[in-house]
Amino acid sequence: MEYVFSDRLKNLQGNAIREIFKLLSNPEVISFAGGLPATVCLPKEQIAKFTNELLTGEKAIELLQYGTTEGYLPLRQQIINYVKEVGIENISIDNTLIISGGQQGIDLTFKAFLNKGDNILVEDPTYLACLHILKTYECNAYGIRSDEDGININDLEEKIKKYSPKILYLVPNFSNPTGKTLSKEKRLQILELCYKNNVMILEDDPYGKLRFEGEDVNSIKSFDKYGNVIYISSFSKTVSPGLRVGFAIAEKDVIRKLTIGKQAVDVHTPTLNQAIVTEFIKDDTLKNHIKKNLPIYKEKKDCMISCIERYMPKEFKFTRPQGGLFIFGEFDKNTGISTVECFKEAVENKVAYVDGTSFFADGSGENTMRLNFSNATNDRIEIGIKKLAELFKSKIK
Ligand code: PMP
Repeated sequence: MEYVFSDRLKNLQGNAIREIFKLLSNPEVISFAGGLPATVCLPKEQIAKFTNELLTGEKAIELLQYGTTEGYLPLRQQIINYVKEVGIENISIDNTLIISGGQQGIDLTFKAFLNKGDNILVEDPTYLACLHILKTYECNAYGIRSDEDGININDLEEKIKKYSPKILYLVPNFSNPTGKTLSKEKRLQILELCYKNNVMILEDDPYGKLRFEGEDVNSIKSFDKYGNVIYISSFSKTVSPGLRVGFAIAEKDVIRKLTIGKQAVDVHTPTLNQAIVTEFIKDDTLKNHIKKNLPIYKEKKDCMISCIERYMPKEFKFTRPQGGLFIFGEFDKNTGISTVECFKEAVENKVAYVDGTSFFADGSGENTMRLNFSNATNDRIEIGIKKLAELFKSKIK
């Protein structure tokens, strides 16, 4: 059979990280490639306990039946409180939608707002799945230069004029892939600029709760008096990515459109999983769980940074995140190092990373790479960084 795939997908390659995962089935490979929460941080016993209580309780049948697309009511009610922690106040149930992971929120937003050929703006580099989803809608992304404290405002202004984007997509806390955090000052400037130019902001915040250093900054949504921000987050990094539970906060009319889009995709997010998450957030279970885990993430981050300082060539510059899961590194262009070309050899040497090209809107960034510090043990972090350093040093021209 000769398959005639849709124009949307026929030239689209698999998501780079999903493809790398296939290469990493060998447990000897030390992987800095994924974006997984630390295995030791997954609350297995707690989830088992809640599941058992829920399925032996009076709501068991309700949890196993079809539910509403908008989400499980007790969870939506809890979310109203939960987002006060990021400064979002004065919202009602109608401003909430439960989604099957944060990634679905990106997809539903693009589905609701973008027509074929539309433009969006992203930070350069940005979350690669955002670029991937965008391609399935046959739209274009343009990158905005990234400073130490998030996107460059002048560049944003210029690109708004040049490309008339419908959406600005941002990961303001401990961004994937850079680990950087957008300053409060910039959050306010961006909000005004986007409002004036009729640009929606998609604020994607899966990592905000994983702050192990520094001070929290309120969400962009918390400053939004115009209704042009859609805030999405999930419990993938704080409870479990396998549960696939996240949420969106936006104006009622926007939530309605996202809901209509979701009706067509998966009907609703699994109710049992939503109920498990409700149990986590209705008292301090999740807070305590995160509190217990943050020192583990910090230790791993410190370990990776000190190994990079000790072993990597001096031409390698890197970010120092205050939370999240990633460090982003960049080789001086004079070194001639291509992280794309080195990847195969690195995996043969049993260590993996993600080259930076998948994160740049125009596919540049051959001298850059993303390193995940949350998933390997400290011993393996040291061995892995040492191996990478040896490989890269041997390639410097
Ligand atoms: N946004 C960003 C920036 C991410 O890094 C991720 C996970 N890698 C997601 C969204 C999606 O997470 P999930 O769908 O598991 O909630």
